This record gives sequence, C-alpha cells and structure tokens, in this order.
Amino acid sequence: MSSVFSKIISKEIPADILYEDDLCLAFRDINPQAPVHFLVIPKNVIESMAGLTAEDEEVVGRCLIVASRVAAEQGLVNGYRLIANTLEDGGQEVPHLHFHVLGGRKLRWPPG
Ligand code: AMP
Repeated sequence: MSSVFSKIISKEIPADILYEDDLCLAFRDINPQAPVHFLVIPKNVIESMAGLTAEDEEVVGRCLIVASRVAAEQGLVNGYRLIANTLEDGGQEVPHLHFHVLGGRKLRWPPG
C-alpha cells in the first residue's frame, strides 16, 4: 500500500531528511512529541512490524543501526526511546513500517 512515506522517499513531498542510504531514510517527524523526534523507514514498502519475514532482516537491521547513529548525531547522550507503533491497537496511522526515535526530555512510562 502506498502512503505519504512513499512520497517522501521519492521526494514528491519535502521532509527534513537527516540520513539516507540505499535501504533506509531518516527524517524529522512533522508533529514532534519531544525535542528530538525523527522516523527511520525502509525504502521498500513494508506495511508494519506484523508479518516481517527473514527477507526483511537486512533492511530492518539497517534501520536500527541508522536509528542508533542518528540518535547519537542528534546528541541524545542521555538516552531515547525507539517505538514501532503496529497496526490498529498499536496506534499505527501510516501503513509503512517506521521506527520513531524520541529524546531530549525525560519520557514517561508506561505509554498510554
Ligand atoms: P504512527 O502513528 O506511528 O503511524 O506515526 C506516524 C507519524 O508520521 C506521526 O508521528 C506523524 O506526525 C508522522 N508524519 C506524518 N506525515 C508526515 C510527514 N509528511 N513528514 C514527517 N512526518 C510525518
């Protein structure tokens, strides 16, 4: 399923891109929930965490490495939170796998 993130990957709509390589893209969330809030997405369309297969191992692994690297570049030395909202109960709104990275303030637990 195509989504707004496909248009960000193809540069049809702008985004504040923090990192890009052949497999992944990291860009700032348009509606930040913390002083630092960015998303890391695979460039190929994977709808969600649900139904990942072994074929997705390389790209998902790369996304997590990118999340770690960009978090460090953004100065999140005191830590951060990595979230993948999944399907309806997980509150996923965009049907393209994405990892949120939030930091720059103390985050509460548990989330709602
Ligand atoms: P989720 O609820 O996990 O599906 O989160 C989707 C996230 O995508 C939300 O935090 C939105 O603010 C973010 N988002 C939606 N459209 C854009 C966009 N054009 N550029 C950057 N972030 C976006």
